[in-house]
Amino acid sequence: MARRPSAETDEVIAREVTIRGVVQGVGFRPYVYRLAHEHHLAGWVCNDERGVRLLLEGPSSRVGAFLDALPQQAPPASTIIKLDVCDTDVSGLVSFELRASTRSAAPTVRISPDLAVCEECLAEMRDPSDRRHGYAYINCTNCGPRYSLITALPYDRPKTTMAAWPLCSACAAEYGDPLDRRFHAQPVACPTCGPTYRLLVDDDVQAEGPEAIKVAAAMLREGRIVAVKGVGGYHLVSDARNVAAVAALRERKYRKEKPFAIMARDLDEAEAIVDLNATSRKFLVGTARPIVLAPAKMVLPLVAPDQSRLGVMLPYAPLHHLLFDAGAPAALVMTSGNRSSEPIAFTDDEARTQLEGIADAFLVGERPIARRVDDSVVTVQGERPMMLRRSRGYSPGVVAALPPGRPILAVGADLKNAIALVVEGDVVVSQHLGDLADYRTRQAFEQTIDDLLEMYDVPRSELVVVHDLHPEYVSTGWARERFPEQCLAVQHHHAHLASVLAEHSLRDQRVVGLALDGTGYGCDGTIWGCEILVGSLEEGFQRRGHLPPVPLPGGDAAARYPVQAAAGFLAGLSKLPDLRAAPIHFPERFDRAMSLVERGVRCFPSSSAGRMFDAVAALLGFTREASFEGQPAMWLEHQAEQASGMDAYPVEELASGPLLEHIIADRIVGRPIGEIAGAFHASLARVLSIAAARVGREESIAVVALSGGVFQNRLLVDSLEASLQREGFHVLTNEAVPVNDGGISLGQAALASTALAGHPRGGS
Ligand code: ZN
Ligand code: ZN
Ligand code: FE
Repeated sequence: MARRPSAETDEVIAREVTIRGVVQGVGFRPYVYRLAHEHHLAGWVCNDERGVRLLLEGPSSRVGAFLDALPQQAPPASTIIKLDVCDTDVSGLVSFELRASTRSAAPTVRISPDLAVCEECLAEMRDPSDRRHGYAYINCTNCGPRYSLITALPYDRPKTTMAAWPLCSACAAEYGDPLDRRFHAQPVACPTCGPTYRLLVDDDVQAEGPEAIKVAAAMLREGRIVAVKGVGGYHLVSDARNVAAVAALRERKYRKEKPFAIMARDLDEAEAIVDLNATSRKFLVGTARPIVLAPAKMVLPLVAPDQSRLGVMLPYAPLHHLLFDAGAPAALVMTSGNRSSEPIAFTDDEARTQLEGIADAFLVGERPIARRVDDSVVTVQGERPMMLRRSRGYSPGVVAALPPGRPILAVGADLKNAIALVVEGDVVVSQHLGDLADYRTRQAFEQTIDDLLEMYDVPRSELVVVHDLHPEYVSTGWARERFPEQCLAVQHHHAHLASVLAEHSLRDQRVVGLALDGTGYGCDGTIWGCEILVGSLEEGFQRRGHLPPVPLPGGDAAARYPVQAAAGFLAGLSKLPDLRAAPIHFPERFDRAMSLVERGVRCFPSSSAGRMFDAVAALLGFTREASFEGQPAMWLEHQAEQASGMDAYPVEELASGPLLEHIIADRIVGRPIGEIAGAFHASLARVLSIAAARVGREESIAVVALSGGVFQNRLLVDSLEASLQREGFHVLTNEAVPVNDGGISLGQAALASTALAGHPRGGS
């Protein structure tokens, strides 16, 4: 143990310390215990409903040194949100002890997200003399699953999905030893006492334990498809370099073109596949282990058609490492275990029914998954991270702090749903839940709300429930039905921009906001989606400009068929050439859509930027049905990326007509598609920047906030940010939550919190 402190004559003092944050289940108490011993201090440490509490007694210099060291050497998986120190009476304690958990009030301790296996555990797993050699469920307080196996708080083994496996004596000794890395590691297990893996083919067990993993690795080498149970759900896995295997996966999964993610064996393999910079590398190797989208360095046929980027992640569960160690191909397609657009399977029964006929074999672990937690997806713009899907490794982490007040439940939007719960001002955002049109997603939505309310012991009667202004959203209906007296509606694009301000902790910063997305119900009852707003969290937002609305024919179908969106945008133009003829070749669906527009039948006025991207994609050749949401816009961005240079058309007004006229004229004269796509991106950036700058100058505002799904387009963001910066504006966008509708619940919560604090909010 450590140095003798110099000032042995110091006055003896006592301090009580309370720590809030992610401090339970991450080795915090043993850490405090060791640190107190190193500093020769007496006292105790315990978990309580707010986090960790400790009492220190000793000479003031040593207490001071302890308090300096405490946040600096904290365990890797912990996050300290708040640390309070107060004086207390010296009671003459002689030793430092670990005390049992106390619980007297509602828990506000934060639940840890799931963490990638740590280096120490990996070393043990690969050590033939270790008792956990080759064990797929190895973990410790620094690593392993948390949120995906917690069933209730406080976080203790009986309240996890490991409850069914009593500890053997060796594990129990580690679990009970304050100086052990597995002290109170709730999911601790070993081959003697813990769950195992089995390989099933046609419901028959082919192999168990390490042998099961070996057989699975061999099947992957042979080009077979294996369903693998992971941390937050099942993956469908195949060799990423085996074209036939990837083709079979696409066909069986009915997933025509949507990109597949890849798991690379190690960082070297990842670097061979994609181009990484410092930021993307940091995300790739971090404990959250998201899928990182980065520029592709090699062509992997069928893995991500028409994309210049590939999604790559590194192994995070011990099982993944074991699969690679057993000889699985170095790059595996690891796609969510589902059929087409269903939610990812996370129970064994679900997997068997959903994935039957897709997977040749099932690698099934016994440990149940408490809740579905998809892989997170991050992309990096320059050095700025952009979360596209916030889920495993991040949820249910705190993303923002609001002024403390009543608990708030924000139910988000219907697509890419994620809910948010505000407890004592901390905004916890749930895992990505998905599209509420699917009944399983609705179940997960309700379950997640129940779970989080229960875990944090929030009384339903005290809740304020925030929902989107859209009267027909499933989430709106749910909120109004369950909490008829406690609801508050927030407009979709106001929420998008509020999410940016909330995550940057800007409460009274006034901004010009650009909110661009597919659809959002506007304050006037029409569909909005290309909005220039002004305001702040304190004062709310006002609409100051928008793309002039066009009549979109056929409602939801306009989002699936770019030519249908094109009809809406083109109907108002004079002197259209024959678009059914060369070079544009629109299919017959276009004529039918046009006739709906002309007759004014089933048309809905909309100012959607997303649909404008679709219309442009259609004009440039994407005339088929989109096979996944956002595909035409991604295709268009990809075309533009392949062209060199992006010169804007000479347009100044935020309107679709002049832009489309230029595009059609360019098409007729045979200008390359990529150049036209580039010109469209540059022109849109230019007109947005002109419009935002005008409002900014009128209002003396120097900050522009960007949010909404359209800003997943990096070309647009780059070009817009550059031109706004030239005009002297500072540009902010989402980093911690998605710019798409996955960030809506944070914005809803932030605006509701202001409304509750008595600040009147502006209207439309
Ligand atoms: Zn570990
Ligand atoms: Zn054991
Ligand atoms: Fe949106």
